[in-house]
Amino acid sequence: MHDVAIIGAGPVGVVAANLCGQYGLSAIAFDREPDVYDLPRAAGMYDDVQRILANAGLLGAVLPGTQEHVGAEFLDPDGNRLIGIEFPGLKTSNGFPPLLSIAQPEIEKGLRSCLDRYESVELCVSHDVREIEQHEDRVELTVHDLARGKSRGVSARWLIGADGASSSVRKSCRISWDSLGYDREWLVIDVEREPSVELPPFAQQICDPARPVTLVPMPGRLYRWEFQLGAGETREEMEDSNRVWELLAPWMSSEQGRILRAVVYRFHSTIAATFRRGRVFLAGDAAHQTPPFMGQGLCTGVRDAENLIWKLAAVKRGNGSDLLLDTYTQERHPMAVAMVQHSTNTGRLIDAYADMTVTGKPPPPDLIEYGYGGSKQLPTLTTGLLADGESEWIGQLMPQCRVRNGTTSGPFDDVVGPHWAVVAKEDPRSILSEDESRGWKDLGATFIVLDDPNAEGLFADGDVALVRPDRVIFSLGPNTAIPGLLAQ
Ligand SMILES: Cc1cc2nc3c(=O)[nH]c(=O)nc-3n(C[C@H](O)[C@H](O)[C@H](O)COP(=O)(O)OP(=O)(O)OC[C@H]3O[C@@H](n4cnc5c(N)ncnc54)[C@H](O)[C@@H]3O)c2cc1C
Repeated sequence: MHDVAIIGAGPVGVVAANLCGQYGLSAIAFDREPDVYDLPRAAGMYDDVQRILANAGLLGAVLPGTQEHVGAEFLDPDGNRLIGIEFPGLKTSNGFPPLLSIAQPEIEKGLRSCLDRYESVELCVSHDVREIEQHEDRVELTVHDLARGKSRGVSARWLIGADGASSSVRKSCRISWDSLGYDREWLVIDVEREPSVELPPFAQQICDPARPVTLVPMPGRLYRWEFQLGAGETREEMEDSNRVWELLAPWMSSEQGRILRAVVYRFHSTIAATFRRGRVFLAGDAAHQTPPFMGQGLCTGVRDAENLIWKLAAVKRGNGSDLLLDTYTQERHPMAVAMVQHSTNTGRLIDAYADMTVTGKPPPPDLIEYGYGGSKQLPTLTTGLLADGESEWIGQLMPQCRVRNGTTSGPFDDVVGPHWAVVAKEDPRSILSEDESRGWKDLGATFIVLDDPNAEGLFADGDVALVRPDRVIFSLGPNTAIPGLLAQ
């Protein structure tokens, strides 16, 4: 029996499979398609997701499919900036550039190539999972090998449904799929341009009342436009190639590039009511779908995988009770809702700025906060496996500060592996009781000394930070006790 079966080898399923390998879980992943989907989809990768991939040893394999992002802006119909942000080549507290442009097929190929490192992880393409049956101690799948035309049974201790927005795993578990309010049609055009064609390097939202338009720079010669459909416009007329080139005329002509895709999509905001049903977990688009205005669809799914796999590994090792697995929904569901709402409000702001051109009435200030560079922060963790405490750092990611472990010194992630870390200004074992030191050691925790004058302000003397394997700060302050959910 496998520890984990994964249905869907899109980016989220494959990151989950790689993480299973890293954490010592055996895994089998299935995808009904013979290869990765070869058109661009997701366009952005945020710093925290780069960090997740780096810690899983995956970042090097995906970087060839990326390019640094220079910034993003909202413009009025005359091209004046309403609100915007620039990324001047800096690294964030996670230690990576704030945002990369990505070409999803290249990313997916890179992620798949890394699976070879793990003997305990298997990827089966051209395999369609047709039935799922949940038992007390396992999940049984019926899998059809499309190349051989044969079916077989596979059993696993847990199942991850990373099978995309129309997830059959979600449906078979009867988990409801609830709308969060955005539902509008846009024409998405992906172009491979001639090298001589110059296009705006910034991602742009052109807030034109005649028709809102989005421009998305992508790596290499790829470029994307999105045109909102107006009342009465049909899919057929918008996807017609003459119409497509008419829409692109302000930027380029048909001799200057090749259309890769011109398809009308309905941008949804939807969320599964729960991300767990017994031994079955939902991740990625199977669990949430967001309008693309923040480039967060793929990123939100990778964060799901990161949140779930270390917990499954802890339960398998006997370092966590089954209740630890409930924290997956408790943590990821509100985060995903907040992310989808953030993107939805960014979409509403485009419409509100477009209306302003007609009515002269500016968008309400609380909506402007959602514009690029606006004051609204992306959500951080506030529920689940977190200690009570005063520190505002609880639930945030541990900054990539310099730390020391014995004679090894370096950025936090380079010194700490995929384990819990106990961090203090001096050797944390001098602060912990003997029982606590032994308990943390038994859990495989690393004891870390802060070695960074810039980060010392985070800690009062005698404070200890307990940092989860996913780099989330569980507690920061005098608390040093092992969380109850980790004790059996
Ligand atoms: C036009 C477009 C533009 C987008 N733009 C952005 C963007 O700018 N930023 C962003 O972050 N995201 C964007 N996205 C969304 C992004 O592509 C998805 O969030 C991402 O692909 C989700 O990954 P996933 O692994 O959850 O699901 P998917 O990539 O959908 O993978 C699911 C996989 O499951 C397989 N599968 C399903 N059922 C079965 C079964 N029964 N048996 C075997 N295999 C099965 C499918 O073949 C598929 O390969 C965009 C999507 C589209 C379509």
